[in-house]
Amino acid sequence: MAESALKLIEPLARPRHLRLEIAPDFPLVHVLADKLRFHQSLLNLLSNAAKFNREGGSVRVSGERRGARVRIVVSDTGLGIGEADIGKLFTPFERLDANERNINGTGIGLALSKRLMESQGGHIGVESKLGEGSSFWIDLPYADAPSGQGGADRARALPGEEVSGGPGRASTVLYIEDNLSNYTLVESILKRYSQVQLIAAMQGVLGLEMAREHKPDLILLDLQLPDIRGDEVLRRLQADASTRDIPVVMLSADAMPPQIERLRAAGAREYLTKPLDVRKFLATVNEFLRTEPPSLT
Ligand code: MN
Repeated sequence: MAESALKLIEPLARPRHLRLEIAPDFPLVHVLADKLRFHQSLLNLLSNAAKFNREGGSVRVSGERRGARVRIVVSDTGLGIGEADIGKLFTPFERLDANERNINGTGIGLALSKRLMESQGGHIGVESKLGEGSSFWIDLPYADAPSGQGGADRARALPGEEVSGGPGRASTVLYIEDNLSNYTLVESILKRYSQVQLIAAMQGVLGLEMAREHKPDLILLDLQLPDIRGDEVLRRLQADASTRDIPVVMLSADAMPPQIERLRAAGAREYLTKPLDVRKFLATVNEFLRTEPPSLT
């Protein structure tokens, strides 16, 4: 998994001549966590390590068994983060003021990764030295090697939630959104579906990579993203034969009719405005996933 995640950040690393490496003693261990959530968090750490690095630096993934837990470490050779800023790193973007938003990667993906890993019984943290670089780590419960099929990938389901398997086919929804409270709302709504897995990206480019990698059944797309705009994400999804057929539903606070028309013309299948009308949102999800509506208990 570390290898496939490193491949995904190659486009970020190449222009800056970064060396990507996996520690030779990287242990072949199994962690007890949902594969998609783990992948998503690892990808977030790797893309930050590539982005906030120096020209010609390196990104290194290592890991070690620590008793009942496994620690995965992503190290960069960037500027490092001052002690005063470390506390803000995992704060959701929208809770920071304008000055704080300029801090090294603050909140972009880290707040989400933290939540994702904590929902799996894990922890996430960082050690950093100014001028030398940062090492972000994820600790997860160690699991014995999977016996038979499914194994570690089936992972542990959250309460009230199922991972794949069971009758029918599980659907995957990719939500490209940088606002953690919007993500949390959609997550809580989609939790009612036992067959739907939600994955998320908080940046446009990362979202495009996740769309190509995971081939979701539905993409929910925000317009205002920290790197490229949602309409540019839509354009690139449409231009790529491997993602062109995935239905895209825009979720945006911008309710101006010309905007809605423009995005529909660009290929968006539906345009929902925020604040989200839950009923309409559920009807849209049902339409595109052709799934059984959840029981409203
Ligand atoms: Mn946004």
